[in-house]
This record gives sequence, structure tokens and C-alpha cells, in this order.
Amino acid sequence: MMSRAGAIASALALPLALLPAVAQASPTSPDHTTPSGVVDGRTRPGHTAPERGPVGHRLPKTATMTGSGGAVASVDPVASQVAIDVLAKGGTAADAAVAATAALNVVEPYATGMGGGGFFVHYDAHTKKVETLDGRETAPRSVTPTTFVEPDGTPMDFDKAVNSGLSVGVPGTPAMWQEILDRWGRRSLSEMLAPAQRIADRGFVVDEAFSTATTENAERFSKFPATAAVFLPGGKPVQPGHVLRQPDLARTFGMLRHDGVDAFYRGPIGKAVVETVRRPATAPGVAVPRGGMTMRDLRTYRVLPKKPVVSSYRGLDVYGMPAPSGGGIAVAEILELVEQSEKRTGVPLSRTDDVQYLHRFAEASAAAFADRNRWVADVVGVPTDELVSEAYAAERACGFDASKAAPRPVAVGQPDGTYAPCGPIAAGRPGTVHDGASTTHLTVADKWGDVVSYTSTIEQFGGSGMVVPGYGFLLNNQLTDFEFVPPTKGVPHPNLPGPGKRPRSSISPTIVLKDGRPVLAVGAAGGATIITTTSQILLGYLDRDLTLVGAVNAPRLSSRNTDAGAEPRLYDSSTGEALRGMGQPMTSVPALGRATAIAMPARGVFVAAAERTRGGGGSAMVVRPRH
Ligand code: GLU
Repeated sequence: MMSRAGAIASALALPLALLPAVAQASPTSPDHTTPSGVVDGRTRPGHTAPERGPVGHRLPKTATMTGSGGAVASVDPVASQVAIDVLAKGGTAADAAVAATAALNVVEPYATGMGGGGFFVHYDAHTKKVETLDGRETAPRSVTPTTFVEPDGTPMDFDKAVNSGLSVGVPGTPAMWQEILDRWGRRSLSEMLAPAQRIADRGFVVDEAFSTATTENAERFSKFPATAAVFLPGGKPVQPGHVLRQPDLARTFGMLRHDGVDAFYRGPIGKAVVETVRRPATAPGVAVPRGGMTMRDLRTYRVLPKKPVVSSYRGLDVYGMPAPSGGGIAVAEILELVEQSEKRTGVPLSRTDDVQYLHRFAEASAAAFADRNRWVADVVGVPTDELVSEAYAAERACGFDASKAAPRPVAVGQPDGTYAPCGPIAAGRPGTVHDGASTTHLTVADKWGDVVSYTSTIEQFGGSGMVVPGYGFLLNNQLTDFEFVPPTKGVPHPNLPGPGKRPRSSISPTIVLKDGRPVLAVGAAGGATIITTTSQILLGYLDRDLTLVGAVNAPRLSSRNTDAGAEPRLYDSSTGEALRGMGQPMTSVPALGRATAIAMPARGVFVAAAERTRGGGGSAMVVRPRH
């Protein structure tokens, strides 16, 4: 089997004229009822979508689409269609990413929105540079290392912290949208938020997945009347088929369109956020911890440009997010460790069977998680270059045994620049990780060749559970991504809370270049499993000869050192049995993460891929489909 990494090199050498012709179809086929007009209020010729009534309910969920003119992969067809409309009308990938994420705020409000944050990786076809933006939520000045410690010294109950004002970080997403447009956009914020405002106003049709998620969160949503009013109409979770209109949210988008992000960071939206955090409006008899956010915290919020984490994998350059996300570092370390396993055994990953492939992957991810948990946080001096270096990986992979799993948890490595000869893998300490399943990943590419990999989140599915009264959006609970207490008693940990600090993340938006040109963009949702999902898709596509949609949909394994899960299609298979026979720990988990990706197999050709079934299925679209 030739690895895709090798094949990519030859495909890129193809002259354009040799590529199959791409159909010049309209961005959407005429039988779709599109949220057409969501961008500019006009319907395109041949489109008869009504100006009133819910948007997008007849859009098909397509897991993969190939073509030209630009592409998008998201978790939702309405959001993907918004992006395609922007791209088809000459917007950049950055423009489309802002418009689609704002639309996701409406149709995936439990996963993302202006009350949260995110990380953004961008390839600029003009400068040929990959740059990143850190739009992570930030702890208010009032936060201290003991914010999540009870008076008796015990860590606060996790759910108590989640459903409270205490866990709300200063949102980064509105500022991120403006920053993205300032740097790489051709459109205004007002234009790019128009589709979201329209969808919130007209409503969308609730599907099974959304209804189920509402039911799962109903108890905590009922604690907050403003949340219950939106998602539990008449006291009951919204049901499939219900048209969910969000007029407050539509008005808030209108304010942002009219007054810009100042309406958020200096104006009435921010004031309402601060009020909600400091004095959560709860149902009778319900009391939740209050936070200490102030307008000063909002005014001083900044999106931070960050130097990407760059590592080399089989001659490809892999770009990801640096701290405070552990995602870029851990994905890079996993790839390095897998490459080292190959060197040690002499058998390329492309030639192993599934058992050996997944065994190598699990050993690598367990080691990378030990390191990520210990070394990565929002502090100065994260040993990023060492953690993703070949020399460090060579030392770390030395003790890997091709026939059996190292006992978990494995010990943390010492990325100190001096690397010892081979030895067995040392044992580590048990730990806990809270894995949410929230967040959403969006991948976009435009006709100029710009590429976006953007993961945005409000942390837990449904965030803090608190909708800002009168404004219609959920606030994050991102500060629960801090360690509540030091994992080792008395030893300070870099990911303890602190004023102005950003909690460590697992978010892993990734862009892969070959000889300076993008060939793949990928990322995922799913808490800490984001790292394993993203790595497994990279390996599946680059090494295991899977199609992109095949790599996205392959059954997942997530071995995270102190915890490990496998989806039933893997767990219940002979491969799963063989892995357990080698000592690979795993429990059966119904579904791990939700991913999206775009491959660029040749100049101007895009293969977009999304989930077929996880989370109810995602949506891949291109501007001009190839038929
Ligand atoms: N808070 C998580 C992180 O930043 C993402 C939320 C989730 O996917 O559960 O890593």
C-alpha cells in the first residue's frame, strides 16, 4: 500500500489541464430549499425559498462532496450553505468561516456561539503563511487558584461549577470574528452576521439530535428561566419538527451588525453578560455560585495571534494551535511517536494490519496525553519545541513494545533537551479528565486557495446552561477546563486557575502543507478526544489509504492514558478483541467526537468530508460540485 503522504507529492505535480473537468453547477441544486437570501436577502434565480418560515429544512446532509470554487465542511447543512453562499459570491474562506460560525450559533447553540471562544488556523494563499488566532475565553481578574475549592479544601463538585457564573470565561468569539475579517476578510462583520440574524429570526426545524441534546440538558436548563424559555417551551424540551425561532438572539446579532463588537465588549450585550455572571437569574429555590466578571474584564479582552506549532510528518508540515491549547502539541507528538514506532519496527504504518496500527496509535496517544496533562497550560515556558521534536519522540518511543501495551498510566516524559538511551516505559499516576462532547469544528477553503480550520466552543454541551436574559445566547463554562486543585497535593500545576489566564484546551484545528501548499485541513469536537480524533483522521488519510470521508467515519479509538474508549464498531470487532488481548485498555463508548475535513488533492480541487452518522451527520459542500 502506498502511503497517501507519498501519493500527495505526485498528485500536486499534476498540471491543471489533466484534471477531470468540474461541473459548473449552481452552488446548490435547484431542488434544495436553501436558506437562500441568507446572505443578502435576495433569492437566486431558480430558487423559490420563501422569505418567511424556517430555513434549510430540506437541505440534504451530504457527508462528502468533491469539486471546485471553494468548499466547506461543518456539522450542519444550514451553516454549510451559508458558507457556500459567501464563497460563491466572492467572499474569502475567512468571510465564510465567520458567517458559518455565526449561523452555527443559531442552529448548534449548545456547541458554539458568541458566549464562547475558539482557536483559528489560517493558510493565506497570497503570503503562503499559516497563522493562528487564540480566541480562548479568559478568566476574569477575580479568579484565583482556589476559585474552584470549597472552604473545607475539597475541589468543588464539577456540575456545581459548570452550572454557575463562576465557570464563565470572558467570551472571545465576537472579537475573534472581527479579527478574522480584519486580517483575511473582504466582507464586513455586518454582512457576515446577516445570515445568522435571518436564521434566528425565521427559525430552523429541530431534528432528532437537537431534541435529544435538549432532553439530556433539560434538568439543568430548567434552573435558568431565560434558558428554559428558549429551549424548553411550555416546560418541555423542543421536539423534532418544532420550528425554533430565537428572536432575542436575532436582535443581538442586529446589535452587533449595527454597532460592531463594541456592543459586546463595551456596550449593552456585555453589561447583560456581566449581570448574568454576577447574579445568575435562577428558577425559584435554585441557587448557583456567582462569578466576578466586570466590564473591565470584557474591555481588556484580546484575541491573540500565536506562532503555530509546526511539526514534520513524512515530509509534510503539520500546523496546529500552541498553548493554551494542548491540541497542536499533542497531535504533533502522536504523529512523531507513530513515526518512531515505524523506525523501531522497520514496518511502515501503511503495511501493518489494523491491530498493529491502532496499537501504535494508542501507545503514542497515551504518552502524548501524559505530557499534555503535565506540561501544557497558559504559562510561560511550555516546552513546545521539545515535545514535538524527533529526538524527544525517539526517547519516548524507545520503550514501546510492538506486542503489548505499556501499563497505564504511563509516566510523563522529560522534554529537557537531553535524551537518554532506551528504557522501559515508567508508570505514571492516575488522574481524572472531564470529557465533554461539545464544541464544533468548521473547515473552509476558497477559490484563491486560502484555508481555514476553526474550532469554536462554549465548553460543555449547553455551556454553563445560562442564556443571557433578553439576548438569547448561552454562556460558556470554559473555566472548568482548569484543574480545580493540583493533581499532586501541594505541587503547583500550570493549569490551575488564575486572573487573566486561559484554561488549557484540547482543541486541535490542523492544516497540513506539502512543499508549502495546503493538502489537508481537519479538526474535531469532543473534549479531550478531539486530539485522538484529529490524529486518527490524519493517520487514516495519510497512511491507511482511506478516503477522506472514510478516515472521518472510521471507528474511533481514544487512548488517553488515564482513560480509554473505543466505538462499538471497533470494540466489538476482532480488532478490538486483539487490542484488548495485547493489554490495550478500552471501554465501549457509543460515539467519539464529531469531525470535519477538507483535502486538496490538486490545485483548485476540494474534497470536503463530514460525519455520516455521528451527531446526526454533518454537511460537506463545494461551490461547483464535480458530477
Ligand atoms: N473545553 C474543551 C476544550 O477546549 C472543548 C469542549 C468539548 O469539546 O467538550 O478542550
